[in-house]
Parts: sequence; structure tokens; C-alpha cells
Amino acid sequence: VISVSARPIESAAGERGAVAVFHDITDRKHVENELRGFAGVVAHDLKAPLAAIRGYAELIVEALADPDPAAVADALRSAGRVMAGADRMHTLIMELLDYTAARDATMRVEDVGLRELVDDVVTARTDAPDATGCRPDVFVGALPRVRGDRVLLRQVLDNLLGNAIKYTPPGQAPRIDVTARVDGSGAVRVQVADRGIGIPDGEHAAVFDSFHRASNGTAMPGTGLGLAICRRIVERHGGHIEAMPNPGGGTIFVFTVPGVAAERELQDNAHTV
Ligand code: ADP
Repeated sequence: VISVSARPIESAAGERGAVAVFHDITDRKHVENELRGFAGVVAHDLKAPLAAIRGYAELIVEALADPDPAAVADALRSAGRVMAGADRMHTLIMELLDYTAARDATMRVEDVGLRELVDDVVTARTDAPDATGCRPDVFVGALPRVRGDRVLLRQVLDNLLGNAIKYTPPGQAPRIDVTARVDGSGAVRVQVADRGIGIPDGEHAAVFDSFHRASNGTAMPGTGLGLAICRRIVERHGGHIEAMPNPGGGTIFVFTVPGVAAERELQDNAHTV
């Protein structure tokens, strides 16, 4: 996109002409469009929990004016919904912050053991108070050490494992296999395979776009930002990420990290967390 500004000029000798300045504003337009889309989705996604907070707060006020014990029970139920609405807004805000951090945070590159990261993520997720009760069955293969930013790479694994758990039907213990190998070009290829609901054919590439959710996944809470965050982080490490169907049902996510740590040997005691 080019913006042109021009103005007439006249030389000391009386010759007339014009000066035209061409600005390439492609980047600016792109950022403006992205921001507009971003603001639209945020406004839309915050409107519902905010309306719920407002409505249930009113019910609490009404119930408190009523001495009947049934009204108190109603007020407690409403208070629970106020908290749930606030939690949804909090989740969205945290994801927006992660999204900007994934893009802008200064990277601190060091040797990172992928195995410790996976163990840490699984432990944190299964100990979390909001855990759904089904303990995921996570098999961790031999994982090498890589060169990368520990905090950002942990976030990629946290998002992928979190999705594997979230998109496994309730009542079924999530089964996740995390494996890695060094490919022909010397990059580490990390694979996270689940046996969940899968992603419909033709939608595997789009799930990495910000705010995009697959057509079969909208019953679960989510913002569609997690995988966009993953893609940004992986690309900042010089790698790429893709999703594909798991032949056994479910989805496989694969990302590459080109930097292998100096201490190269695989941490090869495969185990289940
Ligand atoms: P969110 O989970 O908040 O919607 P993500 O960006 O993490 O956002 O994922 C985008 C979409 O990709 C999800 O809405 C879901 O439809 C799909 N998806 C992601 N991970 C999986 C998975 N492991 N199994 C099935 N679908 C998935």
C-alpha cells in the first residue's frame, strides 16, 4: 500500500514543478487491520461475561433485600456465576498478554532440557485446582536439550498439552505422547500426539491463526489464541509448527527447534509422568 503526498514548487528562476513523496505504508495498514480485528474480538468476547457479571450482581442485590433463606441460596448461586464471568474475562486478558509477550518479549536463549519442561508442565497441570479429575496419561520419550528461551518454550508445551487434555472427551483419560528426534537438517522435531476429538479435514492449518477455532471445538471454552502464541514463539526460534491427524484418532502437533544444545546427548530414559 502506497500513500502519496505532493505539492507544487517553483524554482528561483520561475520554473514550476511538483514534488511527490511516496510512502510505503503496507506495514502500518497491516498493523492497523490486525489491531481492528483484535479489538473487535476482544470487545465481542468480553461482552458476554461482562453482561453476566452485571446481571448476576443485580440478582445478588435483590436477594440480599429478601430475608427468605431460599433467596440467600439464590444469591450464593449468583455469586458463583459472577466469579465464573470474572474468571472468563481474566483468562482472555491473560491470553492477550501472553500473545503480546510471545511477539515482543526479549528472548533469553540458553540450553533448555525439554524433558524437564514437559515434566514441569504435566505436574503443574495435574496439580492445578481446576483439573478436571481425569489424570492425563503422558508418555515422554527421549527428549534432547535445545537452544531456546525456557519461559517461551515452556509456554508452547503448556498450550499443546493443555489443548490435548481439553480436547479429549470428558470421562476419557487423556492419552498424550511427547516424543522428539533430531531430523536430517539437525533441528529437533518435537511431536505431541493426542487421542482426542481431532480437527476436521481441511482445518489443520487455520487453527494457528489468532482467534480461529475449529468447527468441532467451540463447545469447549477457549479464545483461539493459544496456537497463535505457539506459532509466534516457534517462529521466533527459527522453527515451524504444524498439525496433522493422528492415524489412531486425535491430533498430532509437530514443532521444530533448529538450535540443538552443545551438550547433545539425548536424555533417553523414556518414562510416563
Ligand atoms: P482455544 O483452545 O483457546 O480455542 P487454540 O489457539 O489453542 O485456542 O486452538 C485453536 C483451535 O484449534 C481450538 O479452538 C480447537 O478447535 C483446535 N484445537 C487445538 N488443539 C486441539 C487438539 N489437541 N485437538 C483438537 N482440536 C484442537
